[in-house]
Amino acid sequence: MFIDQVVIQVRGGDGGHGCVSFRREKYVPLGGPNGGNGGAGGDVYLRVDPERNTLVQFAHQQRFEAESGANGEGQGKQGAKGADLYVDVPPGCVVRDVRSGDVLGDLTEPGQTLLVAKGGRGGRGNEAFKSPTRQAPRFAEKGAPGERLRIELELRLLADVGLVGKPNAGKSTLLSRISAARPKIGDYPFTTLQPHLGVVQVDDVHSFVAADIPGLIEGAHEGAGLGHEFLRHVKRTRLLEHLLDGMSMDPVTDYAEINHELAAYDPELASKPQIVALTKQDLPDSREMLPLVREALGDQVPDILGISAVSGHGMSELLHRIVDALAALPEEEAEEPLYVFRPAEKDPRAFEIRRVAEDCYRVIGQEIERLAAMTDWSNQEAIERFERILVARGISEALEQAGVTFGDTVRIGHYELEWQ
Ligand code: GDP
Ligand code: MG
Repeated sequence: MFIDQVVIQVRGGDGGHGCVSFRREKYVPLGGPNGGNGGAGGDVYLRVDPERNTLVQFAHQQRFEAESGANGEGQGKQGAKGADLYVDVPPGCVVRDVRSGDVLGDLTEPGQTLLVAKGGRGGRGNEAFKSPTRQAPRFAEKGAPGERLRIELELRLLADVGLVGKPNAGKSTLLSRISAARPKIGDYPFTTLQPHLGVVQVDDVHSFVAADIPGLIEGAHEGAGLGHEFLRHVKRTRLLEHLLDGMSMDPVTDYAEINHELAAYDPELASKPQIVALTKQDLPDSREMLPLVREALGDQVPDILGISAVSGHGMSELLHRIVDALAALPEEEAEEPLYVFRPAEKDPRAFEIRRVAEDCYRVIGQEIERLAAMTDWSNQEAIERFERILVARGISEALEQAGVTFGDTVRIGHYELEWQ
């Protein structure tokens, strides 16, 4: 199976916890606070590896997590930062956030990277909370949890070769035959016509991607809505493999008609170089046709191949001609501008209050949820600090306006508080 779409989970490393510690010196009963900060968690990046051309690796692993930061220690010692994690992907990968559907990036250039999950920042040690009014804070922050995201990778193979020809010429059969050695044909969900792409492995070093374009031409008459995306593939093909039906009454007219349709559809497509082959050479009628077609088209196409996807006749020669022709053609010219969408930045301090039950409220907000996760709930001073943040951010007031009363439950992230 050719995998062209996967969903994976990425998770930045958690931040290390801040430390509560005090200087201990001889004859000094209680020294100042010296608990160090936790280290930040590592980030998760996707990185383009030009050696890859499938998403097959993700069949075995779908979860990726960067290293957590180390905890802070006494004597002001900072925790080490967690290592970043690089996940290699093939070029041509579009990355989406599954939850929002936002496109996070389009990975095309070798070595290009995309940050997909940030590590959490390290919690501050008690040294950081020392102030003129609080000489001996006995609490520290916990590390922030790393960002977690489900992302979808969609691989868009760039087709090198487009298969064209009249309906029944044998395009689909050829594609399944030549990519059968490594069955990597995937349906692309862009159109109702279900165009096909296949990776053709000719030998150890040579491979190319072929697209069954005809659906495009056939569908154009019926006005079938063709995906923008697919058209992009087709335009990027460097070579057309033009198949003539060996069992057609008139392959010569077929040839002219297809070229005419190509030009009408897109002149750029029509100007691509072509390799022409007459199909179904396992059948006597088709074999009789070959010299006639060669004769009639000799001026325009000097070397028409005879092939049969059924018997395998002419297959090897066809594939090597394609490989040679591709090698002689320039690599794709001017790239279209790459697009990278970044979701609009949200104000991290924005919050929302929802009444989820008679006596239960939920506070939803990126920053406040993170701060709740960073609070050490077993420590009274840390809890008091969190309460001050609720007041400072206007969350307490908003809760009261929403109707919170004494004894109600307030949920923030994974934590529950009883309203006092
Ligand atoms: P497409 O419309 O161009 O995709 O053509 P298909 O691949 O669907 O083939 C049309 C018909 O021709 C099918 O019935 C195939 O089985 C048949 N066909 C394709 N290639 C060959 C071949 O090499 N030899 C024979 N005998 N039949 C073939
Ligand atoms: Mg077909």
